[in-house]
Formats: sequence, C-alpha cells, structure tokens
Amino acid sequence: MKYHLHTLGCAKNTVDSWRMESALRSAGHAPSENKDAADLLLVNTCGFIDDASEESVNLIKELDSERRSNQKLWVAGCLTEIATERVQREVPGVDQTFGAQQWDEIALKAGPSNETYDIPMATMPGTGVYAYLKISDGCDRPCTFCIIPTIKGGMVSSEYSQIIADAKKHIAAGAKELIIIGQDTTAFGEDWGSRDGLADLLEVLSGSVPDDIWIRLMYAYPGRVTKRLASVMSRAPNIIPYVDMPLQHGSESVLKRMKRPSLKKANESLSILKEAMPDISLRTTFIVGFPGETDWEFEELLDFIEKWQFNHVGAFNYSPQLGTLATSLPEATVDTQVATERFGEVMTLAQEISHRHTKALVGKSIDVLIESEEPGQNADGEFISIGRSYRDAPEVDGLVFVKGAYHQGDKISAEVSGALPYDVFCN
Ligand code: SF4
Repeated sequence: MKYHLHTLGCAKNTVDSWRMESALRSAGHAPSENKDAADLLLVNTCGFIDDASEESVNLIKELDSERRSNQKLWVAGCLTEIATERVQREVPGVDQTFGAQQWDEIALKAGPSNETYDIPMATMPGTGVYAYLKISDGCDRPCTFCIIPTIKGGMVSSEYSQIIADAKKHIAAGAKELIIIGQDTTAFGEDWGSRDGLADLLEVLSGSVPDDIWIRLMYAYPGRVTKRLASVMSRAPNIIPYVDMPLQHGSESVLKRMKRPSLKKANESLSILKEAMPDISLRTTFIVGFPGETDWEFEELLDFIEKWQFNHVGAFNYSPQLGTLATSLPEATVDTQVATERFGEVMTLAQEISHRHTKALVGKSIDVLIESEEPGQNADGEFISIGRSYRDAPEVDGLVFVKGAYHQGDKISAEVSGALPYDVFCN
C-alpha cells in the first residue's frame, strides 16, 4: 500500500518518523507525497505541551474529515502514548493508534505489501547537508514541567554499532554535519553504568568519520558536562565548539521548583566548556512564567543571561502539561500578560547579546557550510549562497549569506562584512 506520513514536534520525532518509514518500506510499502493517492494516512504526533497536543488533534480531525472512505487513518507518537483515549474520543474515526517508538508494530499491522513498488531508500531525516544522530531515547530526569519521562520511559542508550552505522549511512547519503540528539545526551551510557559515556562515544565517533564532517552536540544537561567531555570536544578535529544546553532558568529557587540542577552546577558546566573551548557557541532555552516566578526571580534570570552572554537563546512561556508535578505546585500561576512581557524582555536582551556576537565577527574569516541548493541573486544581480557557520545549528539559529554561486555541501572560508542580530553577510 501507499502511505502518507505527517510528522509533528521536535527533531527527535523526525528521527522516529524515519524509523517508521524504514520499517514500512522494508515491508514493501511505498511513500506517497500526495495524501489523496495514499491508502494510509499516518500521523506521528507530539504531546510535549498542551499546544502541541492541540495541534496534533486538529490535524487528525482535519485528515479524518477530508479522507476517502477507503483510506485508513493511523495515529502514533507521543500524544497517543499518553492520551490514546483523548484521541479516540475526539476523533472516533481513527482506525488504529500506536504509542511512541512502536515502529515495528506499525509495519506489522500494515503486513506485507500486496503490490510491488519501486521504493527509494528511506530518506534520512535532514539528509542533504545535515542529519540528526539520535544516541538515546527516554529520560531519567525529574523535571517537574516535563511529560517526556512518562511518555518515553527511562533513558535507553543506543548501541555503539547502531550509532556509528547510522552516522556512516548519513555521510554516504551526503550529510556534512551530524547533530547528536537525545532527550539528555550527557546521560549516554548511564544505563550500562558508564560514568563518562558521552565522552567515550564522541571519541569513537570522531575517529570513525572523516575530519571534515561537523559533529554538533545538542541537549546537554547542566551538571553533567565533565572535564573529559570538554577535552574530547576541544581536541577532536571534527567536533565543533557548539553546545546546546537547555538551562530552563537562572534563579536558584525556580530551578528548585523545576527540580532542575542547581545554579552552581549550571555555572560549573558552562565554565568547563568555556575554559576548554574559548570560542564555543552556546545555545540554551529558558521557560518564563513558571508557577510562582517573582519579579526578583525573573531579574535573576536576566542577570544570568547577561553573565553568560549566550550566542543563542530560545524562550518559552510556561504551559502546564497535564500529568506533570508542576501542575500541582502550591505556587500561584503567573498572570499571562506578565509572562508574555517577561518573554519579550528575555528575547530582547538575548537578541542584543546575539548581535554583540555577530558584530564581533565583522572583518574576520569564518568557515561556512553551504546549504542552499541554488544560489539566489541580490538587487545588483550578484549571486548569493546561503549557509551556516559552526556557531549556528540548523532550523533554530542564524544563517550566513555569502556572495558567490556555491554548491550545496561546499565548505568555504569567507570574510564577514555585515551583521544582523542572528545572521551575517560575507563577501
Ligand atoms: S531532562 Fe529534558 S526530557 Fe528529561 S525530564 Fe528534564 S526537560 Fe524532560
């Protein structure tokens, strides 16, 4: 049969979709870009916060109302893991539900295909210039605002052999950058008793792929960055000095209510990274308007952002998620307008700081990985190619606009001539 797959949510869900696709294609089923031509409509949902759940339910309703009577509608992923009944109640027409990570169950339910298709290899998520390399799934941390451990269960590290094989497949498919992801990448190996598992893995991975591949680390946990990890990163020719460490807040008392590591641990981890890699590009995310967040606590967050001069900051207004401890905290909910104003303040400060970083690059030469398939042209008729430097992760950070017609995947060196808060221009 032909399936049409919709993926919602984060990069990790994109990887899960790829695994679903691999299982379906192995059973002989073929993807269909056109949903009307598909026999099966499959949705990989997100249930991370209430807004994401709402978006998932709305999409399922829409597909249900538009589909032909002989088209099947199956729903999988995080939302059906935690709220199957809600999905069945709100969209009774759904034919089948699956939890998170039930890739093989989906292929089993589909059974072998009755038809023979010329099926292309399952496209790796992000194939092209970059690819996500998922090293673990699930999470053992106690963060009070997060439903992920309930949805995905405890952290399970992937096998070395699987990770290295995935990395090689991505590179063979053309990837020039591997992005290490997992709910908490610094927990890698803890389930088999390893004390510094991520450092061990990165050392092996770095030696297993060519030197000109960029290896980028996402989702490190404060307090879990060891000196050895920073040292492996700084020595490896292909691990770029970039870390995304979601810190969630900069006030000790809020972190305590969130059941997150202390400020001391966050500061320690950041110091270790900066010391080993002075040019490191740091990305983080913060939640504003967490229950009970006072003006004083919010000021502490702003001071923390100023202190560490993060290259990139993402902020979210706290959104209560049913089934999490944060919803039963005695502290009062922060007024929506106050939370929105705080969000604006964080983003304004973070943008100013990002701009300081990009302005400091003017006149310097940077390495750029070209991402655009075709160069565009500016008003003067000059060719402009678009890429990224190691400072920018795809989808969330900035871009580099370079004069010249380059090919996708080229790595070039160019001088920065101008800077916006997130993007830079090169001659
Ligand atoms: S570390 Fe991340 S995934 Fe794990 S519980 Fe905390 S916020 Fe959720």
